[in-house]
Amino acid sequence: MSLVLHDVHAGYGATEVLRGVDLTVPAGRVVALLGPNGAGKTTLLRTCAGTLTPTAGRITIGGRDITAAPPHKRSRLGLCHVSEGRAVFPGLTVRENLRLMAGGRLTPEALDGAVQAFPVLGNRLDQVAGTMSGGEQQMLALVRAYITDPSYVLLDEVSMGLAPIVVDQIFEFLRTLAARGTALLVVEQYVAKAMGMADLVYLLNRGNVDFAGEPGELDADELAARYLGAA
Ligand code: ATP
Repeated sequence: MSLVLHDVHAGYGATEVLRGVDLTVPAGRVVALLGPNGAGKTTLLRTCAGTLTPTAGRITIGGRDITAAPPHKRSRLGLCHVSEGRAVFPGLTVRENLRLMAGGRLTPEALDGAVQAFPVLGNRLDQVAGTMSGGEQQMLALVRAYITDPSYVLLDEVSMGLAPIVVDQIFEFLRTLAARGTALLVVEQYVAKAMGMADLVYLLNRGNVDFAGEPGELDADELAARYLGAA
């Protein structure tokens, strides 16, 4: 079982952003997707999640073609997309948010799991989500990747703009997900942290894959040079 992009092209109107991307997220593995601003990382995750449809190429999960499948169908097939935007219902309490994530029925096990993942949420169950700090809201959004037990989680800069201590908690959570056997496709500004937990690294530049391999194959200086050279 892998999530595979086969020669995927995608963009916005006449602007082509992804120009023939081949990428594989093997089941249970962590893949870091790196590249300079504007390289197409967010576009690639959106194309995987189904909020953007490729103009050419194919996307498969375990060999099953999902290229034209809408987002809700992809989530039923085990894909979970968490982006920077803190996707919580701000007017609902934490508990109500958790219940919705769990599909309407929050089992004690799911609640325990959520609180174990981010203990602070345990003290906030009856607080309206929109009144929590940005970091707490992001933790709540991330818990979806735990409660729904997806096979693949797509993470788009989920630590963006958060305090260092929260960033550390989020990376700890990602390691917990990975240890549970969930495959992760991670876009992160914290390149060293993302590389540190990745089994595979893809470097995207101007919509093309420049490098695909293990983190150890990528020299830190070379990585910096590529970033600086292309940014
Ligand atoms: P960053 O690190 O800055 O978030 P990225 O690698 O995630 O960059 P994308 O956000 O995928 O890159 O953007 C790739 C290109 O597509 C950019 O040139 C961007 O301006 C353009 N783009 C992104 N979203 C849209 C949109 N909704 N409509 C038109 N162009 C877009």
